[in-house]
Amino acid sequence: MGGRRFLVIGGGVTGLAAGVSLLDEPDAQVELWERVDRIGGKIAGSRFAGLDDIDEGADAYLTRVPAAVAFARRLGLNDLTAPTDATAAVWHDGLHPIPGGIVLGMPAAIGPFVTTSLLSWRGKLRAAAEPLLPRRPADDHLGALVRQRFGDEVHERLVDALVGSIYATDTDHSSLAAVPQLAQLAESNRSLLMAGRRARRTAPSTNGPIFAAPRSGMATLTQAAADDIRARGGTIRTGIAATTIESDDGGWRVDGERFDAVVLAAPARAAAELLTGVAPGAADELRAIEYADVIMVRLAVDGTAWPERLRGRSGYLVPKPDQRHVTAASFGSQKWAHWQPDDGSQILRTSLGRDGLPVRHLDDDEAVRHTIDEMNLHLGLDLQPTNISITRWFDAFPQYRPHHHERIARVESGLPSTIAVAGASYRGIGIPACVADGTRAAMGVKAAATGADGILT
Ligand SMILES: Cc1cc2nc3c(=O)[nH]c(=O)nc-3n(C[C@H](O)[C@H](O)[C@H](O)COP(=O)(O)OP(=O)(O)OC[C@H]3O[C@@H](n4cnc5c(N)ncnc54)[C@H](O)[C@@H]3O)c2cc1C
Repeated sequence: MGGRRFLVIGGGVTGLAAGVSLLDEPDAQVELWERVDRIGGKIAGSRFAGLDDIDEGADAYLTRVPAAVAFARRLGLNDLTAPTDATAAVWHDGLHPIPGGIVLGMPAAIGPFVTTSLLSWRGKLRAAAEPLLPRRPADDHLGALVRQRFGDEVHERLVDALVGSIYATDTDHSSLAAVPQLAQLAESNRSLLMAGRRARRTAPSTNGPIFAAPRSGMATLTQAAADDIRARGGTIRTGIAATTIESDDGGWRVDGERFDAVVLAAPARAAAELLTGVAPGAADELRAIEYADVIMVRLAVDGTAWPERLRGRSGYLVPKPDQRHVTAASFGSQKWAHWQPDDGSQILRTSLGRDGLPVRHLDDDEAVRHTIDEMNLHLGLDLQPTNISITRWFDAFPQYRPHHHERIARVESGLPSTIAVAGASYRGIGIPACVADGTRAAMGVKAAATGADGILT
């Protein structure tokens, strides 16, 4: 049965992936509404330091989770690249290389931890005792588990620094299940170190880099998806915010227009407002999801003033106890071979703020001053930026508190089959998870609206 009318609300990568998938349904009519006047959501890039398309947000996607790789391939993106071999460090009274033999910061080998300068001897001995410790239930608290198994130093200087910077989170208040790689290790063995060691030994040898990105910036991915939707007859409308959803004779009326099914690919708070009338229980659950703000500051600095000792570094993370505002800095021109301004400048990107470290109150001057002061302290430099840009990503990182997945299961069970929620607020924050979730949601509402799952609507 064709000719169904689908609406996607939200033009981030999730909504675009949903739109692409919905158009695979023969005769489907697909509309996508985006509140602001550009598509892409949290994915954006712009000209900076004389180069086009320097990312203001996400700069790469994981290749080990196949959804984004497959999406890019489907959209015909060929000019992909990977980060250089430059390596990251952690700042704690100086820069320390991240030791090898870790799984998301958790020790999975002894050797590199004996020699690392990042941990004290006391911290190392505490971590080394991990295989001997009895198991205690973590009740889905990531931080509590890592502190209990490896001690505070490993937690604060490695696991929280790494996971916290990826998700702008404080892992003392976040869900273990939301980091499936660690959750699976915790399930598979009493000792996380032994489980990590076995996982590393038995991991299939993977070809190719762990991260990928279009050379012309991450926004190429969302633009290609929008082009695909339009080319196959879909409609994308920008500058239009959906405000109400009402039930209408087996379908839905959204701001007066009728659709057979709706994919809500907007953040949880926006989704909650839209669902208030048709699924109040789900709306209440969604309203409880909290968000963290991040400010991204891009700087260009004179390449001749960039010291030799920092060459070969891709950037550094700042552990929670050492953070003032900056949580991580990426040395963009060393991380990406193609980010090389003609005048030899170095492009740097710093992230300010996370869950529990508010930055919304900072004005532009304050954000820049903190960035420069803190980087000067961390790196022992006197940075004199020649270009500066600031992007405010407010309510950008949904916080997966312990038992987040149970909350999302309750949301799902409270939704009609022809409405699905999808995106970073629900089942994974990274681009691959968002693409997978948008596709899953599209397939779910397609099946429900066309009766392909046996439920005729
Ligand atoms: C600074 C930063 C760096 C990141 N780095 C990485 C990285 O390197 N790799 C990675 O994999 N991930 C990264 N992420 C995460 C990833 O970019 C996001 O999780 C993902 O892009 C979110 O996509 P989404 O479509 O789910 O949500 P969004 O991008 O938030 O899109 C939702 C859209 O819905 C629209 N909307 C809201 N309400 C309505 C309404 N009522 N009607 C119509 N439209 C509405 C919004 O305007 C928005 O455009 C990063 C995120 C940030 C902020």
